[in-house]
Amino acid sequence: MGSMLIKAERIFDGQSDQVLEHAYVLVNGGLIEAIGPQSELDGSTGKFAQEIDLGSNVTLMPGLINMHTHMSFSGSATVFADHQTESHEMKLIRSVENLKMALRTGVTTVRDCGTLNGIAFPMREAVENGIFQAPRVIASGQGITITGGHLWFCGVEADDEAGVRRAVRSQVKAGADFIKAFATGGNTTPRTNSLAAQYSEAEMCAITEEAQRLNVHVAAHAHGTPGVRNSIRAKVTTIEHCSFMTAAGVGYEPDEVRMIADAGLYVCPTIFQGRGKYLDREQAKESAEVAHFFDLRDQRFTLVRRLVEDGVQIVSGSDSGVGYNSFDDYPGDLVLATEGTDLSPLYMLKTATSIAAEATGTQRFGDTRTRQSRRPVRRARQSATRYPGLDPTPAGGVARSGYRLTACLAMVMLDRAFFS
Ligand SMILES: [Zn+2]
Repeated sequence: MGSMLIKAERIFDGQSDQVLEHAYVLVNGGLIEAIGPQSELDGSTGKFAQEIDLGSNVTLMPGLINMHTHMSFSGSATVFADHQTESHEMKLIRSVENLKMALRTGVTTVRDCGTLNGIAFPMREAVENGIFQAPRVIASGQGITITGGHLWFCGVEADDEAGVRRAVRSQVKAGADFIKAFATGGNTTPRTNSLAAQYSEAEMCAITEEAQRLNVHVAAHAHGTPGVRNSIRAKVTTIEHCSFMTAAGVGYEPDEVRMIADAGLYVCPTIFQGRGKYLDREQAKESAEVAHFFDLRDQRFTLVRRLVEDGVQIVSGSDSGVGYNSFDDYPGDLVLATEGTDLSPLYMLKTATSIAAEATGTQRFGDTRTRQSRRPVRRARQSATRYPGLDPTPAGGVARSGYRLTACLAMVMLDRAFFS
């Protein structure tokens, strides 16, 4: 693979606190070799095997990481019923389409948080082998849940300490990149309780201990406060949703939050548009149910903002696949999260690029590190930082249309911060 020079009006590298204007990326052999201002290129253009000028009004950025997906889920209002009635083959076909859709929106990595092993692992392999173009897959396979617990229909049921240890071992044996554990019930699964803990603190600790021994991370689904507490004490890597949910709504526990921050756990709050795409606030005046939807969403925005203010690292993931939530607009979810929480657009983009990469561990991405630059872009050495986990797209084989879409999103978001 020869060298490729990409020029863009602005470049966000996924890590720094500002965008680089009139910038370029030099890709060599599939690796980002240098990033810098175009003024450094004087006299050196024409020397590259390929040159792409994205023109004005484009901000180039790394591919997005969606930290929470369910690739085989229908994204309709009836996810649970669909999963019961669809054949395995239909779920596979849907998964292919879902991942392709994600790629078209600029997502180059998905961390899948609960899909049947017989779908998630072959899909990961098919993408790795280039059988079809889709985001890189990091897969938990089947999540660990209690009998009849959240996502039992695509999970491993385990009910005591010995059981959860066996479940962790069997999932790693089957090929899981990380372990997904359900610390509370959830909305997708009838007859579970989101507010109550599914596992005791000791059981959650058994999960993380076993995962640690096998060198894999743990992502814990937790809505209700007891489940959040147990996940914190078990020192999981990421807490999914982390709603501090009580019967009265979204709560906040400053002492618990301090423990999350001190232990360096990540929170993936899974903000997504969902039903909000089809509702507007005017309807809330007539419908108590719609009013409740917006009220709860606002509470979540406030929670996420407070978490960040209290020093917790956030990673973005949209829970694509669950009710009213397809794979077609993760960028829109990031925009919603930015506007709703009033956090900086750049921080939000980091939660879907560099911070997300950090949270997944970078051992699977060792080949994407930035090389030291050489002439004719010598000065870029200082600015060519290491990019753990970030895809050197489009050299990584990602469709350019997807890349452009991401670039447009970034432009919109960054414009709000820097150019208004
Ligand atoms: Zn989920």
